[in-house]
Order: sequence, then C-alpha cells, then structure tokens
Amino acid sequence: MTDPAPLPVPTLSLVIAAYNEEDVLHILFERLETVMAGLGESYEIVCVNDGSRDRTAQILNAAHEADPRIKVIHLARNFGKELALTAGLDFATGKAVIPLDADLQDPPELIADFLRLWREGYDVVFAVREARDTDSWLKRTTAGAFYATLGRMSNVRIPANAGDFRLMDRRVVDALKQLRERNRFMKGLFSWVGFRQTSIPYRRPERAAGKTKFNYWKLWNFALDGITGYSTLPLRIAGYSGLIFALVAMIYGLFLLLRTVVLGVDLPGYASMMVAVIFMGGVQLVVLGIIGEYLGRMYDEAKQRPLYVVDSVKGLETPPLVAVA
Ligand code: UDP
Ligand code: MG
Repeated sequence: MTDPAPLPVPTLSLVIAAYNEEDVLHILFERLETVMAGLGESYEIVCVNDGSRDRTAQILNAAHEADPRIKVIHLARNFGKELALTAGLDFATGKAVIPLDADLQDPPELIADFLRLWREGYDVVFAVREARDTDSWLKRTTAGAFYATLGRMSNVRIPANAGDFRLMDRRVVDALKQLRERNRFMKGLFSWVGFRQTSIPYRRPERAAGKTKFNYWKLWNFALDGITGYSTLPLRIAGYSGLIFALVAMIYGLFLLLRTVVLGVDLPGYASMMVAVIFMGGVQLVVLGIIGEYLGRMYDEAKQRPLYVVDSVKGLETPPLVAVA
C-alpha cells in the first residue's frame, strides 16, 4: 500500500467560523467565488461549524460536495468564535491564511490588497475600520473606551479598531499555533507574535443577513479576556489603591487623635464610620474580584484541556499536529 500523494498546498486559505449562519452562507460562497476567481490564485476555504443548531452543517457539507476547495470542520459543540478560529488556523494549509467573518462584514474584495502587500514583503496585513458608522452609538463608545484602556495597560501594542480580518504569512500562523492559551483574545495573540505588519483602512459594512452572535455581556467578558490576558496592571492598581486608602486612614486617625486631645472626647460619628466601613468593604471585594479574574484564568490554563473538540471533518485528511496540545 502506498501513501496517497500529498495534496498540493494552496496559496490562500480562507478561514471562516460559522455559528448559526444559515441565512448568510449562500451569499458568502457566491461572493467569495467571484472574488477568488478574479484573483486567479489557488485557494481553499476552511469553514468551522462552531456547533451550530440550525442548518449550517448541512449547507457546509453540501458546499463541500459541490466544490472540494470548500473544507469543513465540525466542532463537537459551540466553543465560541476565538476557539473556532483557532481550529480553522490549525487545519489551514495555505501559504497565507485569511480569517474572515461569515456575515460578509469583512469585505472579501480587500483580499486583493492583502495579497499585493504580502507580495511586497509584509507578513501580516490587517484591515482597520476607518469609521464605525455602521455600529450603534453604545457599541462605538464602549469599543472606544475598551481600546483606550487596553492600549494604556498592555505591553503588547494591539491596534485599535482592527478585527480578525487580516492576511497572515505561513510563518506567522505557525508561530500563532504555538500559543495554546485557553482564554484567547485573538487580536492580542496576532500582535504578540510580531513580524512585519501593515494595515489598510476599510469601511465595515452591515451584516449581509442573519443576526449578530454577540451581546454586551459576551463583549464585556471578551474585554476582560483582552485586558487580563495582556496586562497585570489591574493587580498593581489594586495594591496601590490599598496603599492610598491606608495612608488616608492614617492621616485621618492622626487628625482624630489630635482633635480629641485638643477638644476633648466627642462621640458623634456613627454615620461617617458606617460610610467608611461599607466603602472599604466594597473596595476589598472589588480587589478580590480582580484577583479572582486572574486566578480563574490560571485555573483554566492549569487544567490543560484541549482548546476544542472536533466532531468530524470534510475534505481535510490530516489531523492537525496541535489539535490537542
Ligand atoms: N461566531 C462563531 N461562534 C460563536 C459566535 C460567533 O463562530 O459562538 C462567528 C459568526 O458565525 C461570525 C463571526 O463569528 O462568522 C462574527 O460573529 P458576528 O457577526 O455575530 O459578530 P459581530 O460582527 O456582530 O461582532
Ligand atoms: Mg458580524
């Protein structure tokens, strides 16, 4: 028995995480086909079905039957976008890899520009939103505040308003595959690996069809992952605020002592005492919470579970080397 000939390596791998995207997949494949035909490069489309409960699985399987360049990974359950994307990157074989959203909010027309800059020698070309005019006011302000905080706190320069939509050279993807942390904030990991990076501005369109899979609670948790993953500053702030409160208490204590010595004993002060007790109780709980955020993440990492579990694959024969790391 001889081994089957190794599959030719495509130039481009598009990696698409899809969670309940039945409404948009047809439009997506149509658009991609047009764009990719125009480029004239060999390519594969690695779709990750992130435990969808609608007809996403059937649609992806049918797409694979119709066009073997479309490959499918079915995850065993919903693992979330970051992990679905990780699975896709693990399986992708292309010389350059481009993750993009299923909902066409990452316009595939930009791929031509990505390619041009990649050929000029950049290892990473990422798309940056020049205006957030398709977002609601609340999302704009919260996103702005998040990037400002993260930028100030983290030691890794994470570009604001850049998503996962980017082209990465094979060596960047291979470096990325070595980062097996569980609480993944992909944008941070992308920056952490470094290499020659450049960006191109674009206007992010509205979702082509279907509904967003993120709500503010998910985004808040995502933001916590981003900040705790790239900075230990909150822990230090907790320590310093303790110091400041102790100092203030000492000064106030001295003041009270002097006042008692000078003016004699005087009892009122129940209200201010209660305020101080409750306030300090609150501060301590917040600080404990901050420690807990880090501790919980350490616990997650310590368990060393695989990042995701694959149910089945279509069109991808070789199991990835690092699926269970
Ligand atoms: N997604 C996923 N798993 C999830 C949630 C989302 O794979 O648990 C995918 C989703 O199918 C889409 C991408 O992540 O391709 C971005 O999701 P969405 O468009 O809902 O996010 P938004 O653009 O609103 O931030
Ligand atoms: Mg979207």
